[in-house]
Amino acid sequence: MNLMLFGAPGAGKGTQAKFLIEKYGIPQISTGDILREAVKNETEMGKEAKKYMDEGKLVPDSIIIGIIKDRLKEADCKEGFILDGFPRTIPQAEALDELLQELNISLDKVISLNVPDEDIIERITGRRVSKVTGKIYHIKFNPPVDEKEEDLYQRADDTEETVKKRLDAYHTQTAPLFDFYKNKGILVEVDGTKSVDEVTKDIINILN
Ligand code: AMP
Repeated sequence: MNLMLFGAPGAGKGTQAKFLIEKYGIPQISTGDILREAVKNETEMGKEAKKYMDEGKLVPDSIIIGIIKDRLKEADCKEGFILDGFPRTIPQAEALDELLQELNISLDKVISLNVPDEDIIERITGRRVSKVTGKIYHIKFNPPVDEKEEDLYQRADDTEETVKKRLDAYHTQTAPLFDFYKNKGILVEVDGTKSVDEVTKDIINILN
């Protein structure tokens, strides 16, 4: 099963991907996670990407497309994958189409997690990630049972100032992909304002 999770930053793509990995045994491909790892390891690509990420801007398509080309060819993607945070521009979506054609596969579903802008800032500024499991929590809406054990941290770009810029980038560059995939007939919408569990159930119902 080849899936894509679509939505604004903070819509719950990463959170839901973690459940879908367990349920379907297919990997999550998060360009954001791959970039953060490259930044941490101070690779050339990481150093270049960091300039954009710190500013809340999108990393250039050429870098992102290169990452995805390598990643989708790895053996663990043979049974399917969950794209999270990619594509984010029309040129990325077109490059993905080409790549999928080359690999003789297609996208089964694009799941759009709909969350209004008013909710996004509170969601992102309260977001924390576990250093232990990589799971995503929210200090108010979805706290872990044991905060210390999870060793939570806040992403560097999850500040209010950067979130506003990321939302801008989403509306101008990424939102047009909604129609791109709707026109292909594979986009389904999910109300992302429901609880984490309810959203997971809605997604699983769609996939079944
Ligand atoms: P995310 O974890 O998906 O919110 O991504 C964090 C940051 O990484 C974004 O704000 C962008 O700067 C960069 N990024 C991640 N995925 C992409 C992508 N597909 N295209 C461009 N930039 C990306």
